[in-house]
Formats: sequence, structure tokens, C-alpha cells
Amino acid sequence: MISSVRFHQDACKGCELCIHFCPKGLIQTDTAVLNANGVHPTKITRQEECVACANCAIMCPDGVITVEKF
Ligand code: SF4
Ligand code: SF4
Repeated sequence: MISSVRFHQDACKGCELCIHFCPKGLIQTDTAVLNANGVHPTKITRQEECVACANCAIMCPDGVITVEKF
């Protein structure tokens, strides 16, 4: 499965729903970034393990995440 998961990090409010609902445990807080909301946003790790289920994008209340499957 080839997929792309992108985060509009400045729109993230750090609620961590995406972290908890990724079945593969691929999303974590990006402690290197402080965004426009003053929080550390989330990011994907190990993109190659993503199964493109889109749980993260569905659960995000602010439309931060875009999942594409190729
Ligand atoms: S699409 Fe699914 S597997 Fe991929 S990062 Fe989002 S929740 Fe995790
Ligand atoms: S669900 Fe959305 S707003 Fe919440 S931490 Fe994840 S990307 Fe940020």
C-alpha cells in the first residue's frame, strides 16, 4: 500500500484524537514544532507502515489531516 498522510500543522489544536485512533500507532506529537495555536502539533512516523485507513483524518475535528492512497 502506498499512501501519503499530510498534516496542516498550523491548524492542529493538539487534542491527540488522531494518535489514539491510528490502528498502527504511527502518529505522535511533533515536539520540534510549536504551531500558530501555540501547541505541539502531530505528525506521522513510519509512513511506509500506513494502511491508508483514514481513521486519523476522520477523527480530526479540524480537518488537519489529508490521506491519499495510490
Ligand atoms: S491512515 Fe490509518 S494507518 Fe495511516 S496514519 Fe492515519 S490512522 Fe494511521
Ligand atoms: S486530531 Fe487533529 S487537531 Fe487533534 S491532534 Fe490530531 S491533527 Fe491535531
